[in-house]
Amino acid sequence: MVISKVSPAVPVAAHPKAAPPASPPMAANLAHHLSTESKLRQASMLKISSSRLSKDPLLLSLAAGLPSPTLFPIESVTTSVVLPISEAERVSGKWFHDGLQAGVLKDVGKAKNSKALGVTAYDLSQALQYEQGTGAKQLVEFWKEHVELVHKPKYADWNTIMSGGNTQAMETVFRMLINPGDYMVLEEFAFPETVDSLRPLQTRRIGIPVDEEGMRPDVLEDMLATWDEDARGGTRPHVLYMVPSGQNPTGATIGTERRKKIYDIAQRYDLIIIEDDPYYFLQMPDYIRDRDYEHVPVPTTNAEFLSALVPSMLSLDTDGRVVRLDSLAKIVAPGTRCGFITANSVFAERILRHNEVGLQFPSGLSMAVVHGLLADAWGQETFLNWLVNIRAEYTVRRDRMLDAMEDYLPKEVASWAAPSAGMFVWIELAYPAHPHSADLCIEEIENEIFEAGIANKVLILPGTWFKTTDVPSRGIFFRATYAAVSPENIDLAIKRFGEVVQRSFGLV
Ligand code: PMP
Repeated sequence: MVISKVSPAVPVAAHPKAAPPASPPMAANLAHHLSTESKLRQASMLKISSSRLSKDPLLLSLAAGLPSPTLFPIESVTTSVVLPISEAERVSGKWFHDGLQAGVLKDVGKAKNSKALGVTAYDLSQALQYEQGTGAKQLVEFWKEHVELVHKPKYADWNTIMSGGNTQAMETVFRMLINPGDYMVLEEFAFPETVDSLRPLQTRRIGIPVDEEGMRPDVLEDMLATWDEDARGGTRPHVLYMVPSGQNPTGATIGTERRKKIYDIAQRYDLIIIEDDPYYFLQMPDYIRDRDYEHVPVPTTNAEFLSALVPSMLSLDTDGRVVRLDSLAKIVAPGTRCGFITANSVFAERILRHNEVGLQFPSGLSMAVVHGLLADAWGQETFLNWLVNIRAEYTVRRDRMLDAMEDYLPKEVASWAAPSAGMFVWIELAYPAHPHSADLCIEEIENEIFEAGIANKVLILPGTWFKTTDVPSRGIFFRATYAAVSPENIDLAIKRFGEVVQRSFGLV
């Protein structure tokens, strides 16, 4: 696969492609979605002049305020990284679920002169210097290759720009698209920081109910079709934020057909879709009760792994109306603060303008380590091997939690769906069956159970904490995560939660 280099003189050139007759179409013109704030952003004079002047090698620059790399007191950085179980080993049947910890280590070094020595495309004299607002072009190139491999965008002029992770990315994208007072659509429950970043933007939120398969397209369409500007006091929403895989907090993953329906609605009602997808690669095989944890099924080849993934909204997008947010937080490490936004080139350019006055770019030291890992040590295929590794690890954890729930939660009042991706299980407790349902509201009962959980040494979060609107909750919900707990403690924690539920519902 050939990925064209981004010219340093044109920081966010569209992902260039030749245009033979069969080549994908260009994105639709969607610039009318930009907020006033975003339209007002201008390129900095310094940035324009430095890119123009850097073209002439004979020019002696007294212009840029860049410190000299000779004065950076960090000479080298060495990172020891894990080598995941390879595809060849998987094909030959070698697999063990603790492979991550037992994996062989490899050291990757970055020094100031490593580029000159031909050791790496990205060295410390670049990493410690001011960088373009796109993030290091070597990492952007790696991610574009990854996007081609995994999502195969259907339009030509898409582009990728780095973010500081999806929290930062979503705030940037919200501000690019939303004017104060605008309505925006999201799932009825969401990651609380989503609402926290929309509140100061004065965004009015419409929460679409979710079922086991995520956001309901019938309700979404009905809301848009019957939108009454006078009654609502505002125009129809033009932005839809969604977490389509392993949704936080409901754990739901939207299947292919429903994704297509939602995309079709977005086209008909001219919605921009923000696809916040940090859990995309944590898609797992179906839950099986009492699985042999040592032998979770893994896709033998990387091609099999990729073809089993639900298509992303980006991969369905023919117009350039999906802004996809990828983060390394859940698949490499949150502390890297590295993420990638993929969008049509008009939006990518507006994000670049925002980066230049905000994030600037993710920390160069972080990018150096991440580049050492992804590009120097791994490459695309080994990255996929790693994703297969962690998918297996999360499968074990999810299955242990679901097994414990089968063992310890009272089925007469507790129900849940086995998540097929991500880190969360969403548990509903039957409100009408609660002995105090006549005198306590849902939120009060959730709080009582939450407090009783703490007293019983288990922390599990109430559903109302994740509500995206002020509409009262339609049931008692709790979010449990199996991500960071040891297998033995998953068991114990669910046992403790089961005791609390039994007591609260008067079952013991
Ligand atoms: N979006 C969702 C849906 C999340 O669950 C999270 C993490 N909890 C984030 C964004 C934040 O991701 P990051 O660490 O990349 O900022």
